[in-house]
Amino acid sequence: MMIVMHPHATEEQVQHVCEKLRSLGFDVHRSNGRNYTVLGAIGDPKGLDRRQFELFEGVKEVLKISEPYKLAGRSLHPQDSVLQIRGAQLGGSDVAVMAGPCSVESREQLQTIARSVVGSGATFLRGGAYKPRTSPYAFQGLGEEALDLLRTQADALGGVPVVSEVMDARQIPACVGKVDVIQIGARNMQNFSLLKECGRTGIPVLLKRGMSSTIEEWLMAAEYVMSEGNKNVILCERGIRTFETATRNTLDLSAIPVVKEKTHLPVIVDPSHAMGRRDKILPMARAAVAAGADGLIVEVHHDPDNALSDGPQALLPEMFQV
Ligand code: PEP
Ligand code: MN
Repeated sequence: MMIVMHPHATEEQVQHVCEKLRSLGFDVHRSNGRNYTVLGAIGDPKGLDRRQFELFEGVKEVLKISEPYKLAGRSLHPQDSVLQIRGAQLGGSDVAVMAGPCSVESREQLQTIARSVVGSGATFLRGGAYKPRTSPYAFQGLGEEALDLLRTQADALGGVPVVSEVMDARQIPACVGKVDVIQIGARNMQNFSLLKECGRTGIPVLLKRGMSSTIEEWLMAAEYVMSEGNKNVILCERGIRTFETATRNTLDLSAIPVVKEKTHLPVIVDPSHAMGRRDKILPMARAAVAAGADGLIVEVHHDPDNALSDGPQALLPEMFQV
């Protein structure tokens, strides 16, 4: 952290800031310029709120130097993380492709879609068992039954890894042994107790970006998982809320190169939830890969008009094949 003093700050005010910094455990490095005195605060005391310094008399500006996400950030881990999940790779040279229905609806539905997407090259099978729906009256997912169906289908198809969302820490035990990647949905990105609980399992976590979250908030959410010991985190950009209403969300493709510079974690993109309609997904999937995404997650349904959730954004199996 660097503190820039006002040109008219008194020596007393400078000393007051220096003393406060030292009392918090910082080493202070002072440089006296022609107009400005700059105090370099060296150290990393916990729980510091920079605003407290902004309010001191004589302080002009407080600048942050190091990022607060030590485990997710690149500074201490410059090389890309490559995750190996049941033989599938995430973060290396390959582009991972996760595909499947929004929700698992029945054995037949899942079997039809899973065979088709894995046959077309999907490297992970996705399917919702616990669904975060806007309406409490909408289909909420089949729960544990869906987890069993996902595992059975995935095993029948050569053991592809399974991705499924949990909304509540109480759902984690049912996932153990069935789900290979736990998804934390956009609505739960800042559910800190859920993040910590997922961090205590060794199961890789797919962390979707919250619909109104900044990149720093998203990386801090990853930090929550990692600080509990689980380093297997995958970030997923899935569109953010903007003033634009033509698409369900606005896919923030610019986040990909920005996040990849800040973190060593794999970054994937979900064009399905970003666009919200199947006729706009393929170009954005291509754009995401061109922008440097390590993978994609897309929804596919063989009968989307009768899907129990997100039918309009489900790709038809033949569209997924392209
Ligand atoms: C989903 O993947 O089906 C889902 C609900 O995603 P999101 O949390 O991105 O809305
Ligand atoms: Mn969905």
